Amino acid sequence: MGGETPSQKKPRSDYPVLAPKPVGQLISNIYKERINQFSARGQWENNNLLAMMNEGVASDEPHIQLGVWDAPDLTRPTFKDAVSHDFKKTSVGSWFGPSWSTHWFKVTLKVPGDLLDKRLLELHWDANNEGLIWTDDGKPLQGLTGGGERIEWVLPESFRDGEEHTIYIEMACNGMFGNAPGGDLIQPPDPNKFFRLDRAEIVAVNPDARQLYIDIWIIGDAAREFPSDSWEQHKALKTCNEIIEAFELGNKESLKTCRKIAEQYIGPNVNSAKVYDSGKEVVVSGIGHCHIDSCWLWPFAETKRKAARSWSNQCDLMDRYPELNFSCSQAQQYKWLKELYPYIFDRVKKKVAEGRFHPIGGSWVEHDTNMPSGESLVRQFLYGQRFYESNFGSRCQTFWLPDTFGYSSQLPQLCRQSGMTRFLTQKLSWNNINKFPHTTFNWVALDGSQVVCHMPPSETYTAEAHFGDVKRSMSQHKSLDQDATSMLVFGKGDGGGGPTWQHLEKLRRCRGISDTVGLLPRVHMGNSVDDFFDRLELKADSFVTWYGELYFELHRGTYTTQSNNKRNNRKSEFVLRDLELLATIASLKDKSYKYPKKDFDDMWESVLLCQFHDCLPGSSIRMAYDESDEVSRRTTGKWSYTRANSLSSFTPNSLRPPKSSSKIFRRYLASSRSNPQLSPTVLP
Ligand SMILES: [Zn+2]
Repeated sequence: MGGETPSQKKPRSDYPVLAPKPVGQLISNIYKERINQFSARGQWENNNLLAMMNEGVASDEPHIQLGVWDAPDLTRPTFKDAVSHDFKKTSVGSWFGPSWSTHWFKVTLKVPGDLLDKRLLELHWDANNEGLIWTDDGKPLQGLTGGGERIEWVLPESFRDGEEHTIYIEMACNGMFGNAPGGDLIQPPDPNKFFRLDRAEIVAVNPDARQLYIDIWIIGDAAREFPSDSWEQHKALKTCNEIIEAFELGNKESLKTCRKIAEQYIGPNVNSAKVYDSGKEVVVSGIGHCHIDSCWLWPFAETKRKAARSWSNQCDLMDRYPELNFSCSQAQQYKWLKELYPYIFDRVKKKVAEGRFHPIGGSWVEHDTNMPSGESLVRQFLYGQRFYESNFGSRCQTFWLPDTFGYSSQLPQLCRQSGMTRFLTQKLSWNNINKFPHTTFNWVALDGSQVVCHMPPSETYTAEAHFGDVKRSMSQHKSLDQDATSMLVFGKGDGGGGPTWQHLEKLRRCRGISDTVGLLPRVHMGNSVDDFFDRLELKADSFVTWYGELYFELHRGTYTTQSNNKRNNRKSEFVLRDLELLATIASLKDKSYKYPKKDFDDMWESVLLCQFHDCLPGSSIRMAYDESDEVSRRTTGKWSYTRANSLSSFTPNSLRPPKSSSKIFRRYLASSRSNPQLSPTVLP
């Protein structure tokens, strides 16, 4: 493209002798700015594309009626509890708080007659904090982020009957990154934040305007980010300006004309997943992801709700975007979902069975790898893989730690022993001294065990699926001499709820550009992380190797903070080893002794949870450590009776332990006689 086509080779006979009018050259910076103004807020919004985004809005009674019940004392009650209370009338503009409090809204919706036949009806709810939409009979449907992010919920077809319909919204008084004051996320949270309900309205969206918004966003990015010495950049600029010229405020037909012009650059197939069917060779594999820190700027208790909000979002999006494949790690979070949100867990299980939702990682949480003992690292995999196998029918093949603060040299060996041959991270791209030299390589442990490692060159695990992310998937790839493919891990983390519809629409257009114009690396959707690594493994023999630790050159200070938390971890590791030894001997000596497997599972799961990468190192807020202290206290409380139960199985005659463990056993008995509390001194 960009040159002559064969049909243009014949000289034209009607080329005028006289120039009919002056024609100016596009001044690049002025026309680029014009693209921004086409969809900018502020002084432009009543006259540009934004003025045509909606075909109607209903924000008053009787179309929207709001009631609220304020949960007491920062509690997080269940749906059943919440709806059993009386709701008092409230309205848009009201404020809710303080930080960490929960408020339940009863929302009665009645679509106005003049909107009933509109193409796309949504509830727009923005209270600047996180929320979860529930049906009136207690089914959690979809999360909300707030602050302009993920504020839409598509109304079901059944709401188009002109009658009243009730839903509930559970409001959590925290933003997606907690309650930090001002703009500095890692400051201690403000305990007295209040949130204003800015929007609660039924909106009839104009789908043509919404799609055009994404069209010009991505073509505009090509105009801004492709090199100025490429014809592809100039064509993008020209296409955008042709679109703007064709736009007529108030004329809905002009939106269709604009979209037709956009096809010159993005092709005709971006309105569906069909765009990915061109069969051309792809280099970038897009995979949806939601990195939910099990605690960080919020406690575990809030993470349980974050997982529910985020994963329900993904189940909903998969129904609307067939190309979406989503991977999520941390068996602990799946277990919380199973216990607290069985409806969402069943939806997830169904998507797992369909091959769309991919449990990944193989470990209990995304844990620290520098401080846990070797046994703890093994247990992370044991408990993680066991959960995945028993709940989803198979173990994970890929170890997934995109955000942990460095990687022990033992990990490839432990991965192989737990059935995983692949590893993904990207944290080393944050190094502040040395740039890690590889994107794809074999990572080798001290014993020579290896895993295929990939570090996404877009250098993020929460990509916004921007044009630039796709571009960087090639331009920042450091292993192009061996393999040019890469993974693009996109989706909002923590309270952002994973991929959004905007991410999916943007990627369709990026693919359209690659197939229509070129220059942009060709992205593909629909494959899993394992599909990506399957292909890499075929070539792995030729990849470079990296022996030993993957040392992370940042966040080092965390390892000298929160000493109590670290002490709890180490003490638990020591004690659990001894208790398991005692219980094992007791079960060998006394046939009536029942090995307390559930107690050990509970204790280990608590220890493993507190090894999460923002917990054990020390990067979480005080509130999270109060909670991890409580988790540790509960574990400690089980030590005494587990010990007593196992010791009660030892009769005087049976106090002759098996030969191999006699030394340890004698030392344990000596220690426990002198110190009723179990102590690390019992270690051999
Ligand atoms: Zn993290």
